[in-house]
Amino acid sequence: MVQWTAISKLGQLGWPKEPLMNDVILPEEEIKKAVLCMVVTGETFKFQDVERFSSWLKLVRTTAWCKRFLVNFKNKFTGLIFVRGELMVDEIERAEQHWWRAVQRECFGEEMSLLLRNNAVHKNSKLFSLNPFLDNTGVMRVTGRTERSSALEEATKFPIILDPSHGFTKFLMRYYHEQGGHHGLETVICNLRLKYWILHMRASMKKVFMECQRCKIRKAMPSTYGYITRRTSPATGLSVCV
Ligand SMILES: [Zn+2]
Repeated sequence: MVQWTAISKLGQLGWPKEPLMNDVILPEEEIKKAVLCMVVTGETFKFQDVERFSSWLKLVRTTAWCKRFLVNFKNKFTGLIFVRGELMVDEIERAEQHWWRAVQRECFGEEMSLLLRNNAVHKNSKLFSLNPFLDNTGVMRVTGRTERSSALEEATKFPIILDPSHGFTKFLMRYYHEQGGHHGLETVICNLRLKYWILHMRASMKKVFMECQRCKIRKAMPSTYGYITRRTSPATGLSVCV
């Protein structure tokens, strides 16, 4: 209390001053230059593993946020404006495109490399009958018989080829299953075919229905009928001994 009173009497001008960092002269050996170097080369940048996510929506949104961070990181050095606020539709679409290409590179690497060199897919390939091609974003699509239709959208005429064994495709099928209210196998398949061509789609979707925990609980039947009958039927001690 005595000390505080003494300091307050000094007034603001009389307070002791701490030396600023600019005034401190460091020896030469203490000064170290720190250089941050980060190299990002397009599609070679690997995002988080699919297994670390719980749903398709979280996976795509997280990818979109990561891509925005990279864009802002580049803009910091090029002087462009930072992108802020909620995710835009085109950012979500670019994140989806990233995963479509990632799935196709992992599952159909040979076919992708052939198409990139303007060669046809081999006859023994499982994609040969689909007559695949690469669009202007590098995504592999099916050449369908409906390409001349004016009533259908471009995404429906040329659906995206995906492999059902990849984690992203499993998330996608589960997302459509949940959006369909856990009902209607045929409806979910129709909705998926508006945009995607998943190999063995019907069998893969059936597997999604069978593995869904909510569907298992909904379809579960009581199986303890015989057990309850045995427990509630009258019995004597002698019958149990026999
Ligand atoms: Zn379900």
